[in-house]
Amino acid sequence: MTNLTQYLDLQNRLRKDKIAVKDGETTLTFGELYQQVNGIGQKIVDMEPGLFNSPIIIFSPKSVVAYCAVLGVLWSGNYYVPIDIEMPIDRLKLIVSTLGARLALTSPNGIDALNAAGFCGRTIVLDALIPLKSDVEVPTGREKILDVDPAYLLFTSGSTGIPKGVVISHRAVIDYMQWQCATLHFDESTILANQAPFHFDASMPDIYTPLVCGATLTLLENQRFLFPNQLVEFLNQNQVNTLIWVPSALMLLTAKDYFAQNTIKGLRLVMFCGEVMPTKHLNIWRKYYPDTVFVNLYGPTETAYACTYYVIDRDFPDTEPLPIGKPCQNTEILILNEWDQQVSPGETGELCVRGSSLSLGYYGDIVKTNTAFVQSPLHTKYRDLIYRTGDLVRQNEFGEILYVGRKDFQIKHRGHRIELGEIEAVAYGIAEMEQCCAVYDEEKQQIILYCVLSTGGGMEKDIYMHLKKHLPIYMLPAKIQCKDTLPLNANGKIDRLALKNQA
Ligand code: AMP
Repeated sequence: MTNLTQYLDLQNRLRKDKIAVKDGETTLTFGELYQQVNGIGQKIVDMEPGLFNSPIIIFSPKSVVAYCAVLGVLWSGNYYVPIDIEMPIDRLKLIVSTLGARLALTSPNGIDALNAAGFCGRTIVLDALIPLKSDVEVPTGREKILDVDPAYLLFTSGSTGIPKGVVISHRAVIDYMQWQCATLHFDESTILANQAPFHFDASMPDIYTPLVCGATLTLLENQRFLFPNQLVEFLNQNQVNTLIWVPSALMLLTAKDYFAQNTIKGLRLVMFCGEVMPTKHLNIWRKYYPDTVFVNLYGPTETAYACTYYVIDRDFPDTEPLPIGKPCQNTEILILNEWDQQVSPGETGELCVRGSSLSLGYYGDIVKTNTAFVQSPLHTKYRDLIYRTGDLVRQNEFGEILYVGRKDFQIKHRGHRIELGEIEAVAYGIAEMEQCCAVYDEEKQQIILYCVLSTGGGMEKDIYMHLKKHLPIYMLPAKIQCKDTLPLNANGKIDRLALKNQA
């Protein structure tokens, strides 16, 4: 396979009548999915002839139509950029201006926000895509896609306040998907329940597993997670047997003893990635599902969902961290010390990744790209790029990789990756802000913003309102505290650790 749309051709040939995807309202077989995606791809080409290998925005909550739009963009020979429909307007403006996209496929309630964000391209409302079904294939541009061309672009948190656009190629997705389906035994009997929104890289395996191995995908709306008992019932009604969720979502079901009343029947596989899965919570899952396979995956968006994995194959006490394991196929992990040498076993170093899964870089930002994607320090004989993750890891006595923490101040909060520096950058937009520092209290799972103001204090509410205007809800601090000064460390930098200890 050289591009992802070829997998839809394959499923259309092999399993026309099998259910490919469904949400609360719509169900499509692979045959219907093919017709719909083909129709959308052709419409894009008709509306924007000549648009090729270019970003197209998807601005919509997830639904079967949004799923078809994602694939329709690929079908047209372009790549998709899913954006959170609830994105605050200032952040949306930054993304829209960085992208310079000519086309957006949007739900009706997204048009005003796109206009307000200065989007000057054309928009197509998603509902208008539904009647576009076609069995007749005409060339769209997809025949010209190379496996090194982009498939999607996701914006993640950036430390300068400007979100970074991570560009991922068809090859990176094909590489991961082939490994996943073969190693973890996915096939047409797999029924998935998608938890992550499409603008988050945790949704990538959900989007492509149906295409690669004929599985069925059930889309879960966010509200389903508000009522765990009903969620379990819904999973049973849909005969879901595989979950690829972030740990925070899995923990919603173990926080209270829901499984004592209601269990998911026939659960074969649970995969999690994106943040630390507390062993205590995993042990509750394992108690209720002794025959289910659990897999801890690790990876940043820059390496197409995951680059290491660990199939849980032994018992762990509640306090022992789970390994992130070993590299996925066609991937090498280097653990480098501060002199860029490989560490000895047991020593902590930065996890760096080699292989086809690496992102093509940050959209429109060569400087940042060249800082994170660098020549392997192990030789200079030919171009051999590694991605520096900024994550600290070490190997245990079994040679398994253990996650230690972030090298910088990036955190994971409620499943979202956040650079604390981004909150600070926005807070510095307040005229009276002299100094500020955001820290994360892991124990209470709270972001705290410490501030030094020219007025001396008393502006907590104003600061909160300012942040709310610019940042998504999950990035807002739980506490804002004004101080006379911030502590400094020996290098004269703000002493984050000392502040963290005060939290
Ligand atoms: P994102 O790009 O949003 O997927 O976030 C990537 C970051 O999440 C990584 O750089 C890690 O810091 C963290 N992460 C991902 N998977 C794991 C895991 N299994 N255990 C601990 N941290 C993880």
